[in-house]
Amino acid sequence: MKEQVIVMGGGVIGLSCAFELRKRGHEVTVMETSRCGGQASGAAAGMLAPYSENVEGPDAFFQLGLESLQLYPEWQAAVKLASGHSFEYTNSGSLYAVFHDADLLAFEGRQLWQCRHGASSRIVEGGELQRLEPNLASNVRAALYTPEESHLYAPHYVKALEQGCRLMGVEIIEQLEQLAVTEWQSEIRVRAADGRIFSGDRLVVCSGAWAKELEETFGIRIPVYPIRGQICAYEADALPVRHMVFSSQGYLVAKENGTLVCGASEDVAGFDTSVTDKGIERLRKWNRRLFPELEHRDPFHRWAGLRPSTQDGFPLLGPLSSSDRVIMAAGHYRNGILLSPATARFVADCLDEKQTVECKKAFSPERFGYL
Ligand SMILES: Cc1cc2nc3c(=O)[nH]c(=O)nc-3n(C[C@H](O)[C@H](O)[C@H](O)COP(=O)(O)OP(=O)(O)OC[C@H]3O[C@@H](n4cnc5c(N)ncnc54)[C@H](O)[C@@H]3O)c2cc1C
Repeated sequence: MKEQVIVMGGGVIGLSCAFELRKRGHEVTVMETSRCGGQASGAAAGMLAPYSENVEGPDAFFQLGLESLQLYPEWQAAVKLASGHSFEYTNSGSLYAVFHDADLLAFEGRQLWQCRHGASSRIVEGGELQRLEPNLASNVRAALYTPEESHLYAPHYVKALEQGCRLMGVEIIEQLEQLAVTEWQSEIRVRAADGRIFSGDRLVVCSGAWAKELEETFGIRIPVYPIRGQICAYEADALPVRHMVFSSQGYLVAKENGTLVCGASEDVAGFDTSVTDKGIERLRKWNRRLFPELEHRDPFHRWAGLRPSTQDGFPLLGPLSSSDRVIMAAGHYRNGILLSPATARFVADCLDEKQTVECKKAFSPERFGYL
């Protein structure tokens, strides 16, 4: 059955859900309090790296990330086709660098489980490591090389999603300032600050770090908090870097225009998106450790975004048990760009009743309890 769906939030998650739902024939309206892509999604480094981001083991979050990585080739082609825009989707592979012998033991365990889950990771060192990444510091002891990981240019990806949605007939309304959900059980009604009322059959909540605002409305605990990520970029030709390079303290990734993006801090600063000298200096220190040639370079661009983090690090995904008219899709923390295709598919499957809630129980939006 084709439904009228209201998507709250025009970040990567809201736009991806809108894109998939529209593809399946639903009537979709995206309601954005500010500007599409103006928050975390437009600030992201664009890495699609479930293996490097999950060093502990193959938990439900890793599985979702892996599913999403595997959806990406087809998904990104569909977004490109619908929008006419490309966004530097690049299969560079990644290197996770360590400096000490002691870290190699952990690598062996990691490599084992990652290879059981679709990776062809291997430990590289010495001459092979230098050939793969010639400018890497000579005291890097070894790296875990994962050829399957990719990246894209996040601001262009979000633009392409927005454009694709518009061209497919999704209505996108921005600058709504404040929205109140006034009815969500017998139907969906959302009131905008200017008094307009929007109604629909279903509501998909994709308001990122702001999702907690709906706690009282739905009577559930929504422990989503902003974690500021400060990030910076060096000018084109600062240094050729071929792979995404991770360490325990940060990462570097070169974009098609030659700029080198380096991230990112994790600070608790409320909803403040300012950049601090201390935050960037810390990143620079780690960049120099990995690539000594950056010693005398200054980043030409610095920015920050608010990652939507949850208490247990997992997103809130799925319908509410009190009303399946409401589907949550928030709290993607460090991996919303990676998780966008899998989230869109899961949300659309829930709406089309193709997927039982059971299958993604770990992400239940009610797992933190009720008010
Ligand atoms: C520095 C940095 C680097 C990152 N790097 C990566 C990376 O390399 N790979 C990766 O996968 N992820 C990365 N992330 C994480 C990723 O950016 C987020 O997980 C993702 O953007 C979350 O998307 P979202 O749509 O939920 O949130 P957002 O992009 O924040 O979008 C939420 C939107 O909802 C709007 N909104 C708020 N309240 C309401 C309301 N009541 N009604 C309607 N709209 C509302 C906001 O204005 C906003 O536009 C990074 C994040 C940061 C900050």
